[in-house]
Amino acid sequence: MSEVSFEIFEGECSRREIERIRSIAEDKGADVILGVGGGKAIDTAKAAAFMQSVPVVICPTIASSDAPCSAVSVVYSEAGAVEDVIFMPTNPDLIVVDSGVIAKSPRRMTAAGMGDAMATFFEARACIETGSKNCVGGGVTTLAEGIARLCYETLMSDGLAALEDIDQGICSEHVEKVIEANTLLSGLGFESGGLSCAHAVHNGLTVLEETHHMQHGEKVNFGTLVQLVIEKDREHLDKVLPWMVKAGLPVTLEQLGITDTSKEHLQQVTEAVCEDAMISHMKIKADPNLIYDTFLEADAIGRAALETK
Ligand SMILES: [Zn+2]
Repeated sequence: MSEVSFEIFEGECSRREIERIRSIAEDKGADVILGVGGGKAIDTAKAAAFMQSVPVVICPTIASSDAPCSAVSVVYSEAGAVEDVIFMPTNPDLIVVDSGVIAKSPRRMTAAGMGDAMATFFEARACIETGSKNCVGGGVTTLAEGIARLCYETLMSDGLAALEDIDQGICSEHVEKVIEANTLLSGLGFESGGLSCAHAVHNGLTVLEETHHMQHGEKVNFGTLVQLVIEKDREHLDKVLPWMVKAGLPVTLEQLGITDTSKEHLQQVTEAVCEDAMISHMKIKADPNLIYDTFLEADAIGRAALETK
């Protein structure tokens, strides 16, 4: 029987942590790396396996993001801000999801994954409208658009029921469908459909220390709200905002941990959003003033939705 060596993930998908895991794999002569856990542990395993040129098997224990199926690793600084994205030439070799484990994970984690997945359709739509490239530099195909749309429809039809079942630890059909939407549909959907405003807002928000306790998908969720406000898409706002509130996803800056909403305090965020290449996949020409005004408008709409809950 082959020898198995366990290493505990140290908490951040940083250059240092990726190199630590890679060098252990090298020292032990590992044939394969298995990444077990949440998005950051998974991203670390994917990057370490890529750099060590060994296959990677992914086993998510929560469905909080689309990290399991994607071929990217988001690298954070030691301080917790997004620093870099590593694009691997292939997706993980094998992904094993035990839905029974995920059904017993905290509700907040699956809800965060739903927030990440909800952005997929709107970001792909923006890329299609502007003729922007997807995450691997190709055009957005009809299939990619179809995956993104199916992801959206699944979340709307099964998302809230899945959260109720997870509250009771029940692995129902709703839960199975949402796990597929959060991991497979969202993962393939964003890579093939492209990213835009929602993830640019996420990346910008990571600059603020007070948002570091929030999940990736929770920050992306506010980004989707910002994107829909920029696009003046009232029809989808009316459908999606009540869904976000019921899912317990953050729809205000305060819910993200941001209590100082002054222009000065948010300037580093709005500038980071505008410097992010993904924002150029929108029809509008972004500038920090416009992003700041939209943040406040999205925040006001979000607060109103919370009050009428
Ligand atoms: Zn994401």
